[in-house]
Amino acid sequence: MSECLFCRIIAGSLPTEFVYEDEHVVAFRDINPAAPVHILVVPRAHIETVADLGGDSTGVMSRLTAAANRIARESDVDADGYRLIVNCGRDGGQTVFHLHMHLLGGRKMPELAA
Ligand code: AMP
Ligand code: ZN
Repeated sequence: MSECLFCRIIAGSLPTEFVYEDEHVVAFRDINPAAPVHILVVPRAHIETVADLGGDSTGVMSRLTAAANRIARESDVDADGYRLIVNCGRDGGQTVFHLHMHLLGGRKMPELAA
């Protein structure tokens, strides 16, 4: 059994409701939501960070973005807007080392600090 939290969720060994899934991507609600809508969009493949992408794997980000946009429409946050975030590494604030995109919506996001 994988020690990776998100691999365990994807494998079904940690019961988690998927709000979206396809061949390459799953999405589920963040356990500690930072906004009314806070969904994690996750590739099924174990890729540690966005820094590991390049060359043949660049399609991963397209798939995550397409899924996030679709979930945003289904969550009715598309008209008012939303924020997509990928944290990378320790200084980027990444705590789970399986690539994921945060979809945040349902409230006005603060401006990014300078
Ligand atoms: P990051 O800090 O970008 O690595 O984001 C990891 C996110 O995973 C955090 O927002 C956590 O709240 C979230 N998280 C941790 N464990 C779970 C879980 N079992 N189910 C859903 N979300 C989780
Ligand atoms: Zn993993």
